[in-house]
Amino acid sequence: MMFSLLHTCRKARAGEITTDHGSVPTPVFMPVGTQGAVKAIEPRELEELGAQIVLGNTYHLFLRPGTDVVRACGGLHRFSGWNRAILTDSGGFQVFSLQDLRGITDDGVEFKSHVDGSTHFFTPEHVVDIQRALGSDIMMVLDECLPYPAAEGEALLSSRRTLAWAGRSRERADRTSPYYGSSQALFGIVQGSVYPGIRQSSAEELAGMDFDGYAIGGLSVGEPTESMYRIAEICTEILPVEKPRYLMGVGTPENILEAIERGIDMFDCVLPTRNGRNALFFTRRGKLNIRNAAHAADSLPIDSECDCYTCRNFSRAYIRHLFKAGEVLGLQLATIHNLSFYFWLCREARRAILADEFETWKAETLVELSSAMNQPQS
Ligand SMILES: [Zn+2]
Repeated sequence: MMFSLLHTCRKARAGEITTDHGSVPTPVFMPVGTQGAVKAIEPRELEELGAQIVLGNTYHLFLRPGTDVVRACGGLHRFSGWNRAILTDSGGFQVFSLQDLRGITDDGVEFKSHVDGSTHFFTPEHVVDIQRALGSDIMMVLDECLPYPAAEGEALLSSRRTLAWAGRSRERADRTSPYYGSSQALFGIVQGSVYPGIRQSSAEELAGMDFDGYAIGGLSVGEPTESMYRIAEICTEILPVEKPRYLMGVGTPENILEAIERGIDMFDCVLPTRNGRNALFFTRRGKLNIRNAAHAADSLPIDSECDCYTCRNFSRAYIRHLFKAGEVLGLQLATIHNLSFYFWLCREARRAILADEFETWKAETLVELSSAMNQPQS
């Protein structure tokens, strides 16, 4: 994996990640395909929308279908019919969110499967091995994710453990090779809750371990939005400029623009896909709940400025009907539009950075996004 930083506009960055499964212009939004599938959309459609990279999840794919199945089928790209880039999350976030987390030691973490109740033990080395078997283009280290709020002492201990795990992950990756002939990058993850000092030292130590890229984890877990922005800023000031930065699990369109302004390159979030399946649409003029009775005979498209398949062909009234009638097509059309919207947002941000007008564009876009101009028309 290579990263080229093409242009900066103050701290906002336009770049390009090159993988053996294609190039990824940044800033980039990565759709979440937890179990090897982005919900309610075909890989073919994702390609048509211009998606260059999707997420998979180590924890979920390890439990089901299992590493052996994916290996027997030639890796996750071939198994899932997706030939562009894949980033696999380490599963740290999922394991630490489980009710049945059994115990954590410096060696690793024991947990019970949410699928069948079986007990498993993840070490940093094991998680790299699983990702080797999946064959993702970008692997993530196992990290400890704290809930919010967390006491400072706890956050310090946790970040030390995450750093030790990062070192072990780096070693494991250095001593093993990809199975499928395409190279696999490894990203480190900065933890430390909302404590600037812990985040600073964590980012400094990780930077010294020479990862291919750096993620900022443990945010968007309930902390005030301003804390999230502040921590992202602290981290990007320290992380090496020549490596991509990934803000994990973030977020709303507003969050993404604020984070791009602070030097973040990569994002993932379930919001566009999950909200879409709940009949909530993102548009250039704010959010729109298609179940609202006001749209019953509304002949407008979801977003008249959007050129996605959904907006070119269907009215709000029809999509509302699909949701009311429980038709699967409603979920598909919503997913297509919401992902199109997130891709558009990142594409436009990139264009604005390259044109040296990011701040002006961002200010105007935020005003439009917060407006409520989705007035129904019949
Ligand atoms: Zn659309």
